[in-house]
Amino acid sequence: MTSLPSVAKPAPESRKRPLRLARRMSRMGASAVREILKVTERPDIISFAGGLPAPELFPVKAIAEAHETVFSSQGSAALQYSTTEGWKPLREWIGRRMQSRGINADSDNVLITSGSQQGIDLVARIFLEAGDVVVVENPCYLAALQAFSAYEATMIGVGSDEAGMRVDQVERVLMESAPKLIYVVSDFSNPKGTSLSLDRRARLVELSRRYNVPILEDDPYSELRYRGQPSPSLASLDEDGLVIYLSTFSKTLSPGMRIGWVAASSELIYALVIAKQATDLHTSTIEQRAASTLLETFDYDGHISELNRVYGSRCFSMLEALESHFPKGMRWTQPEGGLFLWVELPEGVRADALLEVALRRKVAFVPGAPFFVNAPRRDFIRLNFSNQSTEMIEEGIERLGRAIREQVS
Ligand code: PMP
Repeated sequence: MTSLPSVAKPAPESRKRPLRLARRMSRMGASAVREILKVTERPDIISFAGGLPAPELFPVKAIAEAHETVFSSQGSAALQYSTTEGWKPLREWIGRRMQSRGINADSDNVLITSGSQQGIDLVARIFLEAGDVVVVENPCYLAALQAFSAYEATMIGVGSDEAGMRVDQVERVLMESAPKLIYVVSDFSNPKGTSLSLDRRARLVELSRRYNVPILEDDPYSELRYRGQPSPSLASLDEDGLVIYLSTFSKTLSPGMRIGWVAASSELIYALVIAKQATDLHTSTIEQRAASTLLETFDYDGHISELNRVYGSRCFSMLEALESHFPKGMRWTQPEGGLFLWVELPEGVRADALLEVALRRKVAFVPGAPFFVNAPRRDFIRLNFSNQSTEMIEEGIERLGRAIREQVS
């Protein structure tokens, strides 16, 4: 039987005097998902486990040419330290993009970060003290939970359904627990693939204003839409500078470039810049200039259309394959975009036991438990559809369907 790894914590060195790590480290586990990926990403396995964009769709040539242009025209400046806020032409491009999406931000409201993950960390750093409460959708993006734990915050999860976070449950938490922050992935969440409905968006922004609690809107996925109509971002509905908006080029250009951004009020950008100075001084000068150079000439929107064509067909293939191969009566989300969908297992089937059977059949997924805030549920799994061809999706879901039937009977 393939056994799953436990979190790979090295044995402590034998020392006379033990090292005294910060108390917060005892609250921070390694990401269970990353540990699982070590097993599931073997080449012989059809993996729906990772959250990776498809590497065959990276615009490698255009990115390489942008780097060459940067080296030949601004080589020494590109190798030098630079400002914490980020490369001005890139911030200007992002500011224009934000404005075209109805977000009232110019380049001075934009801070370039090393991926949007750093944005989550910096926002947590400027807001959270030990014991502070963060409201999150349950289940929630795991690495956001990790970032909040690093500041010894307490996460309170509110329910979630096909229309995203149960905003009707947020007010009670606002009244009873005086949270410092509300964290939400408004479009195509990780792990569920669901989006916040328009009326819930308006209500959430209204609650944020009434209780003066900022919203951290994490939006890595909204450009990856395969059907349905976009809803306005929370940031575009905000008139009080209470929404802090995060996005990234990780899913549209390349995650390896590590370029994301925060768009927020000047007051918050100032605090975030100070926090970032202490973290890494600035995001890679070369990568920022390469991204900026690329965006001057590259057909970014055309590239996103191509991503949406390919990912959309993978998403729909997976939905069709689930209908054909999973036992009748099972339920899963119906994403309109993003990279994931979320499946509820039949009664009595546990995701971790299923993964062992699935790995024997050479197919993998991520069990849902690590995404839950408190009581982990063992009856959900996350499936990624962006990183396998439609043929492999059909084959992998058929194998997974057989593994589920084996567990049911
Ligand atoms: N937020 C969410 C919801 C994500 O799924 C991810 C990537 N898995 C990130 C943030 C981080 O993205 P990056 O740091 O690569 O921009």
